[in-house]
Amino acid sequence: MHQNSTTTSTTDITTSRRRLGGPRIALAAAALLLAGALAAGTSSCSDTSRASESEPLCIDGALPVGERTPLIDAVCTDPPSALSAAAEQQQRANAEAAAASAAELQRRDAITIVTCGTGTPIPSDRVQACTAVFVNGLFLLFDAGDGAQRSMERSLLPITEIDALFLTHFHSDHIADVGEVISRSWILGRTTELPVYGGEAVRRVVDGFNAVYALDDQYREAHHGEDILNSRVEPAVPHTIDDPGAEGRVVYERDGVAVTAFRVNHPPIEPALGYRIDYAGKSVVISGDTTDTASLRAMSEGADVLVSEVMNRDVLEAVECALKRLDDPRNARLIRDIRTYHIGTTELAGLAQNAGVRTLVLTHQVPSFDNADPRVELLLAAPIRAIYSGELIAAKDGQRIVVELE
Ligand SMILES: [Zn+2]
Ligand SMILES: [Zn+2]
Repeated sequence: MHQNSTTTSTTDITTSRRRLGGPRIALAAAALLLAGALAAGTSSCSDTSRASESEPLCIDGALPVGERTPLIDAVCTDPPSALSAAAEQQQRANAEAAAASAAELQRRDAITIVTCGTGTPIPSDRVQACTAVFVNGLFLLFDAGDGAQRSMERSLLPITEIDALFLTHFHSDHIADVGEVISRSWILGRTTELPVYGGEAVRRVVDGFNAVYALDDQYREAHHGEDILNSRVEPAVPHTIDDPGAEGRVVYERDGVAVTAFRVNHPPIEPALGYRIDYAGKSVVISGDTTDTASLRAMSEGADVLVSEVMNRDVLEAVECALKRLDDPRNARLIRDIRTYHIGTTELAGLAQNAGVRTLVLTHQVPSFDNADPRVELLLAAPIRAIYSGELIAAKDGQRIVVELE
């Protein structure tokens, strides 16, 4: 779908531009400009400030979208061709698998967490930050680093039904795939607004992705028709979370589900946020990127699940020393700096133990070994197990953790 529509749209633009010759060029160009501005939902970009957050982004200039080529339905035979029969079988199986997955995730008698991305910027086969929480029929997504969207599709998450995206902070490994989450959920069928919550600069981040994808939105609407792909639905809507402090503040409430944002410690990021989801007496805490800090300790008190970042300090120190011996001071410094703003295995184990956390889920694993690498157990899980007596899950991408409700 992606390939075909993009190719066709490119052809359309070329054809359209060829037609715009001679004396009518000025009039046609003016009409295109107006159509582009209207389609983008903008009248003028002279004032780039917006009265409210729900107003669409002002995109400067016309969007160059031409006419689409005439569309002809496929000739379908009865009985179907062998190729078409096989396609029908495949499509039916896909639809049934997706429906079964969605039904399981949207069970009202459980909270399900899917670790759609457990990696970091350090290269490995792990997808970057991505945690999905399904609670009382809601699909809440926390962070969308590189690969998040494809991971969610691979795990058959009902991405057209994402209710809200929450960003912990704006490091690239937490936001790189925000554009794809917004776009793919729309292309695959999202018809409702997608709110994106985050700290002070969230509007800049969301508006940026909206601006980058605006042309694609216009192409697809022009090509497929606004009845099934309305470009006004696509752009995400930023919701700024004013500094919630260490004590935290409820920033989202719906159907008995409350999401509390709280400040964590990930300098020099200001502010870096963690989140706590409460529903029916159960709670899930998302650490975000942070050192061991009082707010995370307080928010984790009695939590059913703590999904936390984790770092093995010894490994990083060993790598730093190795890089120095290899006369690679630049990378040695990068590794040194990483140690200053994450939580070590021993600290995390103590935090979870003291807070009485029932299940500790390790994500954002530093270093990021491949999903199947046995060193995850040896260097991340084992040191924690020595201190923490609750259930420990060193998560892999796509893992599901279910909290049954009483
Ligand atoms: Zn970070
Ligand atoms: Zn990170």
